[in-house]
Amino acid sequence: MSAAVDALRRAIYYLDRELAPGQKGRAFSRAIDVVADLDPSELEQRVAAGTLTGLDGIGKSTASVISAAVTGEPNTYLDELDERSRVPLGVGAALRAQLRGDCHLHSTWSDGSASIREMALAARALGHEYVVVTDHSARLTMAHGLSEARLAAQLDAIAELNDELAPFRVLSGLEVDILVDGALDLSAAMLGRLDVVVASVHSKFTMPAAEMTRRMVLAAANPHVDILGHCTNRKVSGTAKGAGRPPSAFDADMVFAACAQFATAVEINCRPERQDPPDDLLALALEWDCHLAINTDAHALGQLEWQAYGCDKATRHGAAPARVLNTYDADTLVAWGT
Ligand SMILES: [Zn+2]
Ligand SMILES: [Zn+2]
Repeated sequence: MSAAVDALRRAIYYLDRELAPGQKGRAFSRAIDVVADLDPSELEQRVAAGTLTGLDGIGKSTASVISAAVTGEPNTYLDELDERSRVPLGVGAALRAQLRGDCHLHSTWSDGSASIREMALAARALGHEYVVVTDHSARLTMAHGLSEARLAAQLDAIAELNDELAPFRVLSGLEVDILVDGALDLSAAMLGRLDVVVASVHSKFTMPAAEMTRRMVLAAANPHVDILGHCTNRKVSGTAKGAGRPPSAFDADMVFAACAQFATAVEINCRPERQDPPDDLLALALEWDCHLAINTDAHALGQLEWQAYGCDKATRHGAAPARVLNTYDADTLVAWGT
């Protein structure tokens, strides 16, 4: 039975890696629940008789993955999915090899699909030394943003996890909303307790450029902010929600000058539907001598592999590894900018 669950979990990992529509992953999650509830002998009987799809919640794809896992036959569906969803390592391969961690990812505490522990273990399997957990702040209610009390509870959970996973490090953080007036959606006292703070715009994307510039400059200048997340907020493709969203308008020279001046790194957001910043703005950020952070903004385990995309992009732009925060060890990262 555990072989079947394991295979179904791998399918979800690959589906997340290729940013498949959510319902596909949900079908596999449902299948895991069904298999977990099933008597092992009934599972084997149904595999032998080819009647898995007679179970509520098991369709053709999930049945084929379960059958192959139970019988040990080649798992064509899973193998093809693995092949198709692989993230190619391009010109950024050397830079990717120098990255030690990921500074922007979500867990089930906000709108991620995996626990902090699962995200940490998946990151460790990719060779990382640390992750920064950056769930959403309270204002983003539809993403179950964290209140101060929940964030405090998360800090306790992270401390426990660090005892378990050492020497791997789980660093505390938050993807804090930049409010319309440039203030942050968390108290300074609480921000001060976090190892790494990512600040992002998640509302009023189309406000006038002068106001958006002021909003972003104030966030970049905030001493608690370490990384400016997905600066243009564009969505280049794909997902149903916000598909094809145009970039926000702002004075990029002023924003990047503030980032350079106040030690706030500009994020290369690796999500395939974001690819933020666009090439012209990344070139500008490098002209301003900004630091960079190459982050996956993963909301699922398989998405942690997307860093390769950002490494290719940074390398194409000639970014020096020393400017990329993710090449620092955990202590250097936490101390950076302070
Ligand atoms: Zn975000
Ligand atoms: Zn995020």
